[in-house]
Amino acid sequence: MRGYMVATWKMAWDGVKKGQEVLRAGGSVHQAIIEAVKMVEDDPEYHSVGYGGLPNYNGEVELDAAYMDGDTLGYGGIMGVKNLKNPIEVAFDLCHYKRNCLLAAAGAEEYARKKGYAFCDMLTEEAYLRYSRQTKQMDMEKLEAYGGHDTVCVIGKSGDTMACGVSTSGLFMKLPGRVGDSPVIGSGCYADSEVGAAAATGVGEDIMKGCLSFSVVEKLRQGVPVQQACETALREHMERLGRSGHRPGSISLIAMDREHNIGAATNKKAFPFVVGDLERNTVLYAAVNEGGKMSVICPDEAWIQAYQGD
Ligand code: ASP
Repeated sequence: MRGYMVATWKMAWDGVKKGQEVLRAGGSVHQAIIEAVKMVEDDPEYHSVGYGGLPNYNGEVELDAAYMDGDTLGYGGIMGVKNLKNPIEVAFDLCHYKRNCLLAAAGAEEYARKKGYAFCDMLTEEAYLRYSRQTKQMDMEKLEAYGGHDTVCVIGKSGDTMACGVSTSGLFMKLPGRVGDSPVIGSGCYADSEVGAAAATGVGEDIMKGCLSFSVVEKLRQGVPVQQACETALREHMERLGRSGHRPGSISLIAMDREHNIGAATNKKAFPFVVGDLERNTVLYAAVNEGGKMSVICPDEAWIQAYQGD
């Protein structure tokens, strides 16, 4: 596949479409990525990002987001932020600075308020109902059993500029203050316009053990083709975790190289992702993993109807 944009999960479809429109109208790749991520953040149907995101153990929605500009290598990120309408906007804002690029919790909220970013109650009634039905268990090891996680990651390229943005509410029922891979640069995302960009979604604790986004971009730097870079980075990481006796949770990756080639890999059975292609179409693909053998398919209507996730 080749394209201008690639994004994680089926939920990114409308956002990528919007991003493509922004590019077609002459907007920058940064505007395109931010619009794409905001569409997912604003949609209460998606329970893992922004408004409508599932809350932490205390019933509060805590949001993480990051942005990286591949020209300047400037990155910005916020973590554990409450009631901020569009975390991606603040992450992008912070990527322009040399210092104070990663802000957490109250400090990030104070910064966003001072800069005039919109705040609102991010806990929807539906998310609260799911929370109130959940049996509380303070077992750190079982946390991933709650499911309810998926990060929106969007990579874009326009001219020579590559960039990526990610946004998530993290794991459902996470401990208050828990931060995953998403705002950790090199783990949740990485972009270098000279080489390419990559982003990750899945269990943050497991992704961070391998700094997986940086690992994919470094393989691109060594000349590895993008699909192979995704598959190899994931396989090597899984093997390493295996040797440590650790059974990782779900991990999925997307990447784009300088020539607009796109790759994806997953340790799940299937991982849908959306491509804004060179003809300006929006196309859904899925990385399918059959016993470790990866293929990328263009799913038909029946596959899409049967798919359960976001
Ligand atoms: N990576 C995110 C986190 O661990 C969640 C996800 O992408 O599913 O917070």
